[in-house]
Amino acid sequence: MEEKEKSDFIRDIINDDLKTNKYQGRVHTRFPPEPNGYLHIGHAKSICLNSGIARDFSGKFNLRFDDTNPSKEEQEYVDSIVQDVQWLGGNFEDRLFFASDYFETMYEYALRLIAKGKAYVCDLNADEMRLSRGTLTEPGKESPYRSRSVEENLDLFARMRKGEFANGAKTLRAKIDMASPNINLRDPVMYRIVHEEHHRQKNAWCIYPTYDWAHGIEDSLEGITHSICTLEFENHRPLYDWYLEELGVYRPQQIEFARLNLSYTVLSKRKLLRLVTENHVSGWDDPRMPTIAGFRRRGYTAASIKNFCDIIGVAKRDSTIDVTLLEYSIREDLNKHSQRSMAVLNPLKVVITNYPEGNSEECTAVNNPEDENSGTRQVPFSRELYIDQEDFREVPPPKYYRLSPGMEVRLKYAYIIKFESIVKDAQGNVTEVHCTYDPETKSGMAGAGRKVKATIHWVSAAHAKDVEVRLYDRLFVKENPDDAEEGKDFLSNLNPNSLQVLKNCKVEPMLGNAKAGEGYQFERTGYFSVDPKDSQPGTPVFNRVVTLKDTWAKIEQKHR
Ligand code: ATP
Ligand code: MG
Repeated sequence: MEEKEKSDFIRDIINDDLKTNKYQGRVHTRFPPEPNGYLHIGHAKSICLNSGIARDFSGKFNLRFDDTNPSKEEQEYVDSIVQDVQWLGGNFEDRLFFASDYFETMYEYALRLIAKGKAYVCDLNADEMRLSRGTLTEPGKESPYRSRSVEENLDLFARMRKGEFANGAKTLRAKIDMASPNINLRDPVMYRIVHEEHHRQKNAWCIYPTYDWAHGIEDSLEGITHSICTLEFENHRPLYDWYLEELGVYRPQQIEFARLNLSYTVLSKRKLLRLVTENHVSGWDDPRMPTIAGFRRRGYTAASIKNFCDIIGVAKRDSTIDVTLLEYSIREDLNKHSQRSMAVLNPLKVVITNYPEGNSEECTAVNNPEDENSGTRQVPFSRELYIDQEDFREVPPPKYYRLSPGMEVRLKYAYIIKFESIVKDAQGNVTEVHCTYDPETKSGMAGAGRKVKATIHWVSAAHAKDVEVRLYDRLFVKENPDDAEEGKDFLSNLNPNSLQVLKNCKVEPMLGNAKAGEGYQFERTGYFSVDPKDSQPGTPVFNRVVTLKDTWAKIEQKHR
């Protein structure tokens, strides 16, 4: 997409705040992942939104780990998240923060609320607390521990921190209103006891802050102006505001937007983790995963993901985006920038019987018709070639114009060839097609302009490299993978054919030296990129990034 002024309801709010000088002209956003999994395409939307706003308004953007839950968090996730945010161009400069670094301040803030009579230590266990919380239509019941004195609360809270109590034995709760119509305000828990090692703080703490208590403080301490989050936090905003107002500290504005949902895709870390731990995929970066690491490994470009996020925009209402829109974005970017090449995925040998044995010659091939500076390259041609099995039919269906008995086709960048005969094995399979070539039909020759109905790609057998190619399809067969039969879950909708491995593909010589991460268009076949994990120098493994066919027209209609 061309760079143009973006507009959405969040940018409108920021523009208004700039007019009224609400934050003295500052714009400061953040992306606050919990390091309990790899980032997915939904997170990419949030990263592009938050870092894009900072960029467009000459503001700042922080990356902050919301590492407040010791049991599910790991350093591996921290490292992958930093890499993914940087890859997407989220420029946090030197502002990489960890919520756990604020634990001491959060603790002091909690003491302040206790001293004000606004927080208390409660001995109800999780079940008792749930039962006393009430429902949407009924008020909750006040905890019998709600009227503890400030002194007793200060003493108990200090002892919670020291580790005197078991997991779940006590909590610290805000004293707000058990009859509030907003359940989030019914004396929410601020601290839980969790005797577990934290990936950064090790054993310094055995009480951990809840998300609602911690998040606003993190935003406040960092001077965030607009704290952008997904819609499920809308009902938490009054609590976000209450904590910061009771503490008397700087208060950012929380703004909610609709999370990204994609068809044929699950975007929940819990479910993605199951795909990994139950070995339905090879890891978080399996090229079929909707993770940023998976997309990167598969060959999606950062530019195309950013472009996708621009196209879908931000909204206040939840919806599901058609995954073909993402594929369209990828295709559009790769079409502009990919080097073209010839690769035969399912080889069938062709012998040019009137071409001298032992001879070979070069044909000039265009590197990228979309980029006039990309030049040309030489592709070897000889007596024995491979074409794709798809491009020959012994008994052609109607309107089949490629190679078949009696037919002529053009070999791209080379000659017109004419069918002569076939060779079959004992089982009756066609093993070779014999053809003759018309030596006057190469580019620059007298017959170069001669028209035939089809042009097919090919490689020279003697010069071709053997490579492995991996074809990916959707990981799920259902548009909504969660729509499973009774008693089953999303895993029952996995596509059993989401990966097809082709071991004996024949590619033009240049591709034999393709390097990890490089992307190519295989002419007439699709976009492919060199797998960074399983390739060795000289033996690339190719991932299919996306097919060539453009289904955008169909979606465009749907969106209209
Ligand atoms: P979970 O999958 O466990 O619910 P999460 O996806 O909310 O977790 P976080 O690490 O808390 O994971 O998310 C970091 C940020 O990314 C949050 O601000 C969250 O609102 C945002 N985010 C998460 N999922 C999406 C999504 N599908 N679309 C847009 N933003 C998202
Ligand atoms: Mg979350």
